[in-house]
Amino acid sequence: MKTTKCFLLLALCAAAIFSSCKKSEVKPSATPDEKIESRYLIRLYKLGFDTTRVKSTGAYIVTQGDYTFAKSFLDTLKLENIVAPEVSKDATGRHASTNTLLTKNNIVIYLPKGTPTFLYNEVTYALGKWNLIPGSNLNFYITYNGEEPYDWKIINQPIGSGNLAVADFPGYPDANGVPGYNIIVDEAYISTLYNTVVRWPRLVRMLMHEMGHMVGLRHTDWDAIGEGQSIWGANYIPGTPTQDPASVFNGFYNPNSPYVDVMDFSAGDITAISNLYPLSTCNLQGYVNLYSHTDNGELNNVHRFAYPAFYERNIEKYALSNIEVQITGISVNYTYNYNGPIPEDGFIFPNYEMPIHNTYRVRMRYTNLKGCLSTWGEKVISYY
Ligand SMILES: [Zn+2]
Repeated sequence: MKTTKCFLLLALCAAAIFSSCKKSEVKPSATPDEKIESRYLIRLYKLGFDTTRVKSTGAYIVTQGDYTFAKSFLDTLKLENIVAPEVSKDATGRHASTNTLLTKNNIVIYLPKGTPTFLYNEVTYALGKWNLIPGSNLNFYITYNGEEPYDWKIINQPIGSGNLAVADFPGYPDANGVPGYNIIVDEAYISTLYNTVVRWPRLVRMLMHEMGHMVGLRHTDWDAIGEGQSIWGANYIPGTPTQDPASVFNGFYNPNSPYVDVMDFSAGDITAISNLYPLSTCNLQGYVNLYSHTDNGELNNVHRFAYPAFYERNIEKYALSNIEVQITGISVNYTYNYNGPIPEDGFIFPNYEMPIHNTYRVRMRYTNLKGCLSTWGEKVISYY
């Protein structure tokens, strides 16, 4: 009996995982399952959402498992102006994209300092999987310095309503009613559901899934599970299979699926992503993920911070075939050049030679295994 209860609880909570989808800096809130006012149900219905699965959590409405809207945003919608989207007439599990896609292919993800190490490593691993997709020109980088430009932000905070993570679609209003570029993860809640061993693959797969929404992928099974086109649109992606149970982007979470802990994209996923963001234009942007620092070991760990920041789990080290590094001292004369493959244990700056109390110009460029040569990334840093 105990086993059954635990399993049911797990399945229930986990059902929210591969849902995700809309929202931003949500304030920690509130008790789920509040009474839902009819004006929100009417608006959601007119927007094309299933109103049989709606929850209210504080200032937000969650529908279809994990699409989240601010009530204040729904209040701004005038009923007479809502045009009902088309309903799919062909319920399949075929990949589809939103009407709006990303307009850039080099994406810097900001992970604020204080992000739990486990989550940091998971994000690194997940974006590594994205960087390795053959045939796609999407390149992801991590920064933990919020002072420099970034495109997406990973926010670790409570979500409520049993949701584990949510993400935005490109160009569409998020939970605050403005276009958002955030993935929100409720790491503390996830930690209560899974031990570390289970959490690793499930959270990686979940992050791979959320990143898919951020680039404009709908749930692969969107029409099969009755999501409809909704306000974002759903455009079938040529070449993808009519059913793809192995897809990372399925919205229906089945804890008994053989793919539940698989940290790989399906062949259909790869076709879909390569179709939306083809490698025919490499446009690989060099990026120096280093900051001015005291002698706190950061330079020793540069293999984590250079693009693509690779994690020890043998993933990113296979992403690059070559790295070129040029370091020039500005206040104290110093020159260092490296041009070659990434060593087995990762590239490490020769900081034992680098004088402190100096300012350096660091340049890096990379050749990835897809044959793309990046532009030079450059940054001036101080080594105190
Ligand atoms: Zn989702």
